[in-house]
Amino acid sequence: MKQYQGKSVYGAVAIGKISVFRRQEVSVKRVHTEDSPGEIKRVEQAEARAAQQLQEIYDKALREVGETNAQIFAIHQMMLEDEDYNDSIRNIIETQKVNAEYAVAVTSDNFAEMFRSMDDAYMQARSADIKDISNRIIRNLEAGEADGAAENDQMIVCADDLAPSETVSLDKDKVLAFVTAHGSSNSHTAILARNMNIPAIIGVGDAFLSEIRDGQTAAVDGFTGTILVDPDPETLAQMEHKQQQDLEQKKLLLDLKGKPNVTKDGTKVNIFANIGGVDNIGAVLLNDAGGIGLFRSEFLYLENQDYPTEEQQFAAYRKVLESMAGKKVIIRTMDIGADKQADYFQLDKEENPALGYRAIRICLTRPEIFRTQLRALYRASVYGNLGIMFPMITSVSEVQEILGICQSVREELQAEGIVYADNVELGIMIETPAAAVISDLLAPLVDFFSVGTNDLTQYTLACDRQNPNLERFCDTHHEAILRLIAMAAKNAHANGAWIGICGELAADTSLTEDFLRMGIDELSVSPGFVLKVRDAVRKLDLSKA
Ligand code: PEP
Ligand code: MG
Repeated sequence: MKQYQGKSVYGAVAIGKISVFRRQEVSVKRVHTEDSPGEIKRVEQAEARAAQQLQEIYDKALREVGETNAQIFAIHQMMLEDEDYNDSIRNIIETQKVNAEYAVAVTSDNFAEMFRSMDDAYMQARSADIKDISNRIIRNLEAGEADGAAENDQMIVCADDLAPSETVSLDKDKVLAFVTAHGSSNSHTAILARNMNIPAIIGVGDAFLSEIRDGQTAAVDGFTGTILVDPDPETLAQMEHKQQQDLEQKKLLLDLKGKPNVTKDGTKVNIFANIGGVDNIGAVLLNDAGGIGLFRSEFLYLENQDYPTEEQQFAAYRKVLESMAGKKVIIRTMDIGADKQADYFQLDKEENPALGYRAIRICLTRPEIFRTQLRALYRASVYGNLGIMFPMITSVSEVQEILGICQSVREELQAEGIVYADNVELGIMIETPAAAVISDLLAPLVDFFSVGTNDLTQYTLACDRQNPNLERFCDTHHEAILRLIAMAAKNAHANGAWIGICGELAADTSLTEDFLRMGIDELSVSPGFVLKVRDAVRKLDLSKA
């Protein structure tokens, strides 16, 4: 058995035979020709054929993955008509006296390079689109056959990378999973895979492709981003079990999708999802979460080699807000420090990092970092329904200082003529015992509380959450924790604020009844747990003692 690790694009399990995707290589020779008008005519004919092919692909995508995802092929059609692109091809044919194939290939390289060198990740990903349409024109010029995967039934398609058109052209009924050696999660291929609900892993690396063969058995774990080739019987059985569980979860999903989170006696609760980045939105939507209760924005910082710029952050927040189409999105300001270290912050080594310089403490001592994030958040606020929350709060004065900084950022934006929504809710995390104990003083200052039970447990029970040896002392159902949550809930409601739970405990269905009886308004859990919690809520009857 051989194991490879990549990045998960869509979480599901697939077991089957490998089919290595082979495309007809486009190799172009430079041929001298004086017949420039003839070559230009050939390009025009090849482009007309490409336009027709793209229309067929667009129609197929429209049927299978919807209009938003099909849009890329409409864009490809527009790219085909782009004046600069076509001028470049003609110029090369006429000035260099070369064949059409060569002129298209050079233009393709130049334009792809131009996109690749842009700062914006989205624009960079467009270089693959340019290559895709150019190769199509070249194949048409050479009157080549269409690309295609092997004819095997039900295959795990493995490729170096897949162009969007290649992805959507595959017969969906025959594809068990995609695994690619390269690729970015921002590419349309990844987006399509997610929307086609096909387990997909990208970025597995070159070694993978050179080592696999057609027909080998493989198990793709789209949850962990792992592909196991020639799994041993025990591993295979484990993967089959995981697949079975996943299918049961999907069945649950079908039954519960669209149903309200309401108990038998009519008590309602919001069930939201936690995410670490834009990539997770597909899972949020798939699992029918009512909103996002915790976007751990520090992952943007952890993925970067340097402080993410205001523009980078704005693009990410906007994307999440737009994707959630008006549903609530609560973004937590960065919680760097303790176990989440980014070198460029140059934080001193600490004896007790969990009790040290982290989260809001960094923001309040290095306000330039905080203000950049707040500017990006407020700018993005007009694209949806935003709430901002602040981690690791321990005192009233911290909250007052934060609110002052938010006010000053809003004034700054206003002075610059930049719009922001005026209904952005501001909340704090209740994840220190101090915050819970003074929640009566904190609640009047904010719109909401969100209980971070992971840290609240660590700090209340003095149990390092990173230390697996403390498990027997770390009773997550400890009466002290439940009392602190109940106290925060009572104080929130007494002051007109709402309260959610976004730590792991929110998904513990043995506590769902206790939480609802405390009056918790929102439970925010990993996307895959949304329906499990909905199921638990709908089985409860709070009118019974
Ligand atoms: C928590 O502490 O419960 C929480 C949600 O925050 P994190 O796990 O990111 O520290
Ligand atoms: Mg926490």
